[in-house]
Amino acid sequence: MRGVVLPGDSTARLGEYDIPTPGHGQLLVEMGASGICGSDLSYIYREHKTHLGQDGPAYKGVIAGHEPSGTVVAAGRGCRRFGEGDRVIVYHIVGCGLCLNCRAGHYVSCSRTDQREAYGWQRDGGHADYILVEERTCVPLPEELTFVDGALIACGFGTAYEGLLRTAVGGTDDFCVVGLGPVGLAAGMLARALGAKTVTGVELSEERRAFASSLGFFDHVIPAGSEAADAVREVTGGRGASVAMDCSGSGAGRSAALAAAAEWARISLVGEGGRLETEVSDALLHKQLTIYASWVTSVQAMERLAANVVAWGVRPRDIVSNVFALRAADEAYRLAASGQVGKIVITADGRQR
Ligand SMILES: [Zn+2]
Ligand SMILES: [Zn+2]
Repeated sequence: MRGVVLPGDSTARLGEYDIPTPGHGQLLVEMGASGICGSDLSYIYREHKTHLGQDGPAYKGVIAGHEPSGTVVAAGRGCRRFGEGDRVIVYHIVGCGLCLNCRAGHYVSCSRTDQREAYGWQRDGGHADYILVEERTCVPLPEELTFVDGALIACGFGTAYEGLLRTAVGGTDDFCVVGLGPVGLAAGMLARALGAKTVTGVELSEERRAFASSLGFFDHVIPAGSEAADAVREVTGGRGASVAMDCSGSGAGRSAALAAAAEWARISLVGEGGRLETEVSDALLHKQLTIYASWVTSVQAMERLAANVVAWGVRPRDIVSNVFALRAADEAYRLAASGQVGKIVITADGRQR
């Protein structure tokens, strides 16, 4: 089978591999779609960097791609839920399965660091014809959704959804998201689906603002910069956002989310990396803010999200700007690294299924 590795020099290389055989509790999944994530670019593609602090795990030279969905083609002994022909979304981290965080489905926060492995980082991932996965990291891909929808739910939409759930965003809220990369776009789509009264996006890149505006679920898309907070207040009757989320992963973006927030607002920090620096009294205390920090999601929330997007009639694939064939992975990564477009997804032949 074909598989893609990322040597860390801003290239993506296609190689040939044996098709793995599923062991106990494992499934062999034929790749339907496999997303390219901001974290792939920052921590693997441009250079290999550790993701979780100085001594954290780094990329091990495995087949890349931690956002897969596909069809089960073989099930190992002991599999109890999925079998041949089932369509699945793969939660992107395998934890020990027994620590408290794993039992709550937050494999991402597994406390047994020696047993924690992310697909596409420490074990083979989704940029391949087939991927070997643990059954317990899979959730059903509803028949109404495409594999591309599934790949998006596997990471970015799950992350956005969890960040929104923490704030309990709903019909009385003016929602504002800073940073309109794929996770920010997902947050906008899902906040609208969750009933937010208004949905505003703030973004630096003109191309990304244009793409976000074309999607139809943002009421307002505002350029990032010193006047962004005033602009958010203007479109929210002078109050500011009652729920603000940072998906930019930049210090300036987080400051913008805090500045755009109304009194008593809930803030969700989702974007990775960098710092949060703020004056405390006027910026936080006097505004009575609540700040949530949210990392990825649980496998249970991901399963519910897949069912919810069907019920809400929204389709994650709407934020995809480009689909590439596996053999064109290098081109796909080059475009993703340019940072000017929506989500980029790889499928076996470059078609959406
Ligand atoms: Zn991801
Ligand atoms: Zn664990």
